[in-house]
Amino acid sequence: MAPFSSLQGIKGVGPKRAAILAEAGIRSIADLYDYFPRRYLDRTRIKKIRSLVDGETVTVVGTVTETRLENGGRGRSRFKAQVGDGSGMLDLTWFRGIHYFSKSIAVGDTVAVHGKVAFFGHRPGMQHPDFDRLDRRGQEGRQEGPGDDELYNTGAIIPIYPTSEVMKQGGLNSAAIRTIVHRAFRDHPPRITEHLGAGMMAAGGLMPIDEAYRQIHFPSSSEELDRARYRMKWSELFFSQLFFALRRTGERHKASARFDHSGRMTASLHERLPFQMTGAQKQAVRELYRDLRSGRQMNRLLQGDVGSGKTLVAQFAMTLAADNGLQSAFMAPTEILAFQHALTMKQSLEPLGLKVALLTGKKAKKARQELLASIGSGEIDIVVGTHAIIEEEVQFHKLGLVVIDEQHRFGVMQRKALQDKADNPHVLLMTATPIPRTLTMGAYGDLDVTVIAEMPPGRTPIKTRLCREEEKETLYKVLRVEIAQGRQAYIVYPLVEESEKIDLKAATESFQQLKSEVFPDLRLGLIHGQLSPVEKESAMEAFRRGELDILVGTTVIEVGVDVPNATVMVIEHAERFGISQLHQLRGRVGRGEHRSSCFLVYSKLAGDAEERLRALESTTDGFRLSEIDLQLRGAGNMLGREQSGAISGLRIADILTDGEIMRSARAAAFELVRTDETLDHPDHARLRDYYWNNFRNRVTLADIG
Ligand code: ADP
Ligand code: MG
Repeated sequence: MAPFSSLQGIKGVGPKRAAILAEAGIRSIADLYDYFPRRYLDRTRIKKIRSLVDGETVTVVGTVTETRLENGGRGRSRFKAQVGDGSGMLDLTWFRGIHYFSKSIAVGDTVAVHGKVAFFGHRPGMQHPDFDRLDRRGQEGRQEGPGDDELYNTGAIIPIYPTSEVMKQGGLNSAAIRTIVHRAFRDHPPRITEHLGAGMMAAGGLMPIDEAYRQIHFPSSSEELDRARYRMKWSELFFSQLFFALRRTGERHKASARFDHSGRMTASLHERLPFQMTGAQKQAVRELYRDLRSGRQMNRLLQGDVGSGKTLVAQFAMTLAADNGLQSAFMAPTEILAFQHALTMKQSLEPLGLKVALLTGKKAKKARQELLASIGSGEIDIVVGTHAIIEEEVQFHKLGLVVIDEQHRFGVMQRKALQDKADNPHVLLMTATPIPRTLTMGAYGDLDVTVIAEMPPGRTPIKTRLCREEEKETLYKVLRVEIAQGRQAYIVYPLVEESEKIDLKAATESFQQLKSEVFPDLRLGLIHGQLSPVEKESAMEAFRRGELDILVGTTVIEVGVDVPNATVMVIEHAERFGISQLHQLRGRVGRGEHRSSCFLVYSKLAGDAEERLRALESTTDGFRLSEIDLQLRGAGNMLGREQSGAISGLRIADILTDGEIMRSARAAAFELVRTDETLDHPDHARLRDYYWNNFRNRVTLADIG
């Protein structure tokens, strides 16, 4: 391959276009080869509108003849477009992403649409078809790219390249890019050396790399294209998993304290449990114990839906540490949560003989000094706290275990700082944001994962209802009924202060109104981020003790708050929240024996808000919700920038749909490292070079310490 050859050597690429391409990351011919089509149009499956049949899924290519935005009332508008192909007319309708589609589709555009045909009377239509703009009338790209004739007279499968707005404005539509790629292949044919070993190729049934490149850009048939794409996805996933495999090997050599003494405290924690542990909890404890006794460092992610009882599992691990004379640090993302954890751990663990202490940012100086001294002397067994625990001043005597609750709320550096408080302490990360299995492999491939997929018995499922702003009277009645029966409720608002730009009711204002006008006879409390920790704690405490009927607040109550008597969760402006946040908030109720409900109050549903709220309404299964979330938002957004490093580098593999390929590639990567830990074997030289040159930097962002 001529990796650094300038693009300007290709006919049709002058300085202007080269600059535009460079902006899209295409700086050399090699980059161009790596610029993969976004989709393909299978010409053999393009149908004429006249011959469409109701219910079939097809591709139609035609010209847009009309577009219009319709206002359907009730906040439901839609965007309609009409496409003609000379044989008939097809109606296209979009209910979601209206803004985007109305901007991207204009009269005169040649488009390919793919979707399910539905007839309305004699008119065929498609709702929310996949759509690709092939050409835009009157633009420069027309001269450069192939016209319709060329489009139809080339191979059966036409690649559709991704194009940015800047590219399109510079005349670089998909067709123009295709021409450029074509000329590059013709004048600078790629010579790419295979970097995977022959054994691996044979075992995986993989197409050679040079052939795969050619098929990706110029498919000869859909079967060959599938094989080429499989090959590319496979190696991409293989190299991203190789990172984890190599890292895991490094960890395997790290010694960590052996917790092999199961003593008095662990035994009595068992005996004193007020309930039966679920099977999933027992299994989780067993897995943790196995790690903790192995003498090798534990690096485990404990996933479990909200309310599945992860804290108890952590308590067992921490008690085992104490039985072995070692301290534990338990870090939680908010003060409210740290406070609450400290409280419950004091109640359940101190009677066993453990010493538990709370460490947050705001402690009086003297008390703080004393506390730090007793942590340093080893008198305290378990330190529960916020990120205040990671401060320099906090020195442990013998820290053996680090637990990070709601780990996704912390940054890489924070998690690492806590682990650096000792030499290779065991690490337990916990998260109530269940993520699909393939995503876990992609993002946390070097962690062992334990999933608690079972809820403690006796919970009645939470009933979720969507509620329009105007229907709130009804909702208030439900609330009153619950409170009359001795239950409690939360009302959550998205923001504290009224913002000038966004029309949101501030929690404080609404609180005043609720208190004086709606529920003058009830006991209301307010909690939000601007309060001091002491004020927050006292409001939370009052609610926990049943001295308040309704707790009005912002999302500070989102994680971990546990008041089993609370049975109603009202989320105002629910459309402003994401799926996982709504799920977390809803998880604050349904924690006791009483039937609970959640109201998602909305005023206007724009974008995919309706889908999000309907998803919440349809299920309480966190894993199911996270899949929907993933579909709506994409993996990178779901994990957050830091944690998505390993998967955001994926160009062709799709973490959502390529689970099978991921498993195969992962197994091969781990097997390779098992036989050649440092990839020093001469047979692996090419592979190692390729990895270092192409993948190593890409994945280091995923370094979660
Ligand atoms: P999460 O996994 O969301 O952190 P918690 O650990 O806070 O959940 O547990 C939620 C609630 O369930 C707590 O009140 C806890 O005491 C209770 N709980 C945990 N395990 C069980 C069990 N096996 N049976 C009954 N209740 C349990
Ligand atoms: Mg929790």
